[in-house]
Amino acid sequence: MTKNISVLGSTGSIGVQTLDVARMHGIRVSALTANTSIDLIEQQAREFRPQMVAVLDEDSAKKLKIALSDTDIAVYGGEEGIREAARCAQADTVVNAIVGIAGLMPTLEAVSAGKNLALANKETLVAGGKVVREAMKKHGTKLYPVDSEHSAIFQCLQGCPEGALKKVILTASGGSFYGKTRDQLRNVTVEDALKHPNWSMGRKITVDSATMMNKGLEVIEASWLFEVPDEQIDVLIHRESIIHSMIQLKDNSVIAQLGVPDMRIPIQYALTYPQRLESPVKELDLSEIATLTFGRPDNETFECLGICRKALRLGGLYPTVANAANEAAVALFLDGRIGFLQIPEYVGNAVESFSDNKEDFDLEDILTADRETRARILT
Ligand code: NAD
Ligand code: MG
Repeated sequence: MTKNISVLGSTGSIGVQTLDVARMHGIRVSALTANTSIDLIEQQAREFRPQMVAVLDEDSAKKLKIALSDTDIAVYGGEEGIREAARCAQADTVVNAIVGIAGLMPTLEAVSAGKNLALANKETLVAGGKVVREAMKKHGTKLYPVDSEHSAIFQCLQGCPEGALKKVILTASGGSFYGKTRDQLRNVTVEDALKHPNWSMGRKITVDSATMMNKGLEVIEASWLFEVPDEQIDVLIHRESIIHSMIQLKDNSVIAQLGVPDMRIPIQYALTYPQRLESPVKELDLSEIATLTFGRPDNETFECLGICRKALRLGGLYPTVANAANEAAVALFLDGRIGFLQIPEYVGNAVESFSDNKEDFDLEDILTADRETRARILT
């Protein structure tokens, strides 16, 4: 393939699977980035021979520079290093697999350098959808969703005439604690929360799945990607994660995308669109699965989905605030400093108490709302 990508967050769950897809199809990799760990990124750099690698942590970047001194690969450090990778001259597409709002500035950097995006980093759209959309319009770039639900909707929409879409139906596995009562959730541990039934993912998104915040973030993500309001986005519990999402058309026909739960399908489609290539993913055998089940989400026990919907309806900076509060609360939970049920409490309180909303806002306002919300929770 002539495709050339820069992979931001190459050492994470999505990053590693992106490199699997690149390896299989001979996609050129021009840049790789990581947060702190350097062993894996060194190995990846030796295999894919990118022009550059960047590590956020400056000390780790210095170590990596020494480790790669026998190669001609340039090594950068810090946030500026990550941005350098986002605008890497050789890449036509930037895969953003960074976790959290840390992905927003690299996304904007990539767009202003004229790159197309394969976007896994949903927090970018939740917190900064407005500025990302404006930048994409200005620079004429495209965005291909990697999140499995959004990829499914994007796939279902192929060939769908303009104006025919009635609603999108996001499926949700329900996460690690589906079916539990609030009482049962009071003392769950980090380890319990990290046991996802179907997907092996990074720690933050696995906790987000357990609280249903992930589905809330995905509702907001869908609203930016497909230009649909809250009322036209349904959420359906589907424990098996075989149907990755659906669309309902004006005539009430429903189109779904199915497959075994493996992120390499949506990653590959984002990189090869509109082509369909061979994939390492197992064939789906529905006779083996036999039964697919569906249900309504329990919004009383798992409040985050409802809070995100409210933030979406309120608009402006509310989604940024909900996302920031969640990132801070999940970090505290993963550190063992708060209980599981305090996550929705922090997110809910942040949205309820936010009073500085603006209809017309810019990147500075987003970064300020994010920083102030985090600071209130973390200090
Ligand atoms: P992960 O924690 O496994 O990996 C995150 C990557 O980002 C790592 O390479 C890490 O080094 C890097 N990183 C972390 N903090 C950073 C920072 N501040 N600056 C720069 N780099 C940083 O996470 P993941 O599960 O791969 O998820 C990545 C993104 O994709 C998230 O937004 C997540 O919601 C989304 N996503 C993941 C999956 C999945 O199956 N894992 C599915 C759908 C969407
Ligand atoms: Mg998803």
